[in-house]
Amino acid sequence: MTKSQSSKAQKIDTQLTQIGRNPSDFHGFVNPPVVHASTVLFPDIETMSLGSQKYSYARRGTPTTESLENAITELEGAAGTKLATSGLNAIATACLSCLKAGDHILIADTAYGPTREFADTVLPKFAIEVDYYDPALGANIKNLFKDNTTAVLTESPGSLTFEMQDIPALASAAKNIGATVIMDNTWASPLYCRPLDLGVDLSIQAGTKYIVGHSDVMLGTISASERAWPALHAFHGTTGLHVAPDDVYLALRGLRTLSVRLERHMKNALVVADWLKTRPEVANIRYPALESDPGHSIWKRDFTGASSLFAFDFRQGTTDAQSTLFFNTLTLFGLGYSWGGFESLAIPVKLKDQRTATAYDADQKSARLHIGLEDPEDLINDLAQAFDKAFG
Ligand SMILES: *Cc1c(COP(=O)(O)O)cnc(C)c1O
Repeated sequence: MTKSQSSKAQKIDTQLTQIGRNPSDFHGFVNPPVVHASTVLFPDIETMSLGSQKYSYARRGTPTTESLENAITELEGAAGTKLATSGLNAIATACLSCLKAGDHILIADTAYGPTREFADTVLPKFAIEVDYYDPALGANIKNLFKDNTTAVLTESPGSLTFEMQDIPALASAAKNIGATVIMDNTWASPLYCRPLDLGVDLSIQAGTKYIVGHSDVMLGTISASERAWPALHAFHGTTGLHVAPDDVYLALRGLRTLSVRLERHMKNALVVADWLKTRPEVANIRYPALESDPGHSIWKRDFTGASSLFAFDFRQGTTDAQSTLFFNTLTLFGLGYSWGGFESLAIPVKLKDQRTATAYDADQKSARLHIGLEDPEDLINDLAQAFDKAFG
């Protein structure tokens, strides 16, 4: 829930083994218990009416939800963290916690598709104005500010086209007008980017991805700065959000291996991306970890690592039939949404209906890959046979 007291001197790998658990509270068992609960009993009416008991009702928190909240709070360097039932629900909750009727929010044009759908269909019902901004704007986002701009929602890099954004510049411009900056930090995870250190107020994780890491749970986290925490805490509590204990437990379990998994994901992704450079079917690779990427310098400045999600553009003139055959021929890469699990995935990228503030090439055919924990040589062989069949 709120900031816990683990030693700041500890390195991240050590922290990952310590955070969110306190064996002496639970008879020495290494992991926190999975508390299935609704009712919490009080010893007497006085305690009940004082509201001083640590737990009052499971919706408001249990030792299980608190363990994960505390762990994420440590990793994000936050004042507090709340859990949500999915990554998308975390984004919706963060937005609604800081917006009211008559407000205006600016959203990065690269935002995750369902984020756009939420903003375009739900926010206007509450008389909240939505505009999209070019992710390359940086400090110039100030030119888009209106008198009623109260929030900026960013995602860096965008999870389809991977443009990096100058978050410190955006955040400092937003701060000048008192606007809340929300960042979807799913790509980097709290291990490779700490948005709150860059001036962001609300950092979001689709825990579904790398934190859970095994493609078996939907979960979101929202971590807040001191400034944004009271509104988040109040909104989360009054709207009744609660995540089931087994799912919370699986996220905590995933967290213990996040660092070793991410390290291997990145290593494998770089091997595959380097190989893709040699393929005549590939025109361009969109991966900030590559020196050739236009976002590489920002990535190097603000991030400490890269995850394994990136995209490549098929060469000009690639037909629908060729790209479809490419995807259908893959065997190790599954065709499916999401990412961050142990297994590799591929999807075609279509920018139509996903961009409104920046120009894009509607004919460009691209592929998004999530590189899993398989041996990269096997992944390369799979991609090679799919290219050969589709373009041969
Ligand atoms: C998947 C994803 C989400 C949403 O997470 P869910 O748990 O699937 O709702 C949000 N942002 C990004 C960048 C994602 O990739």
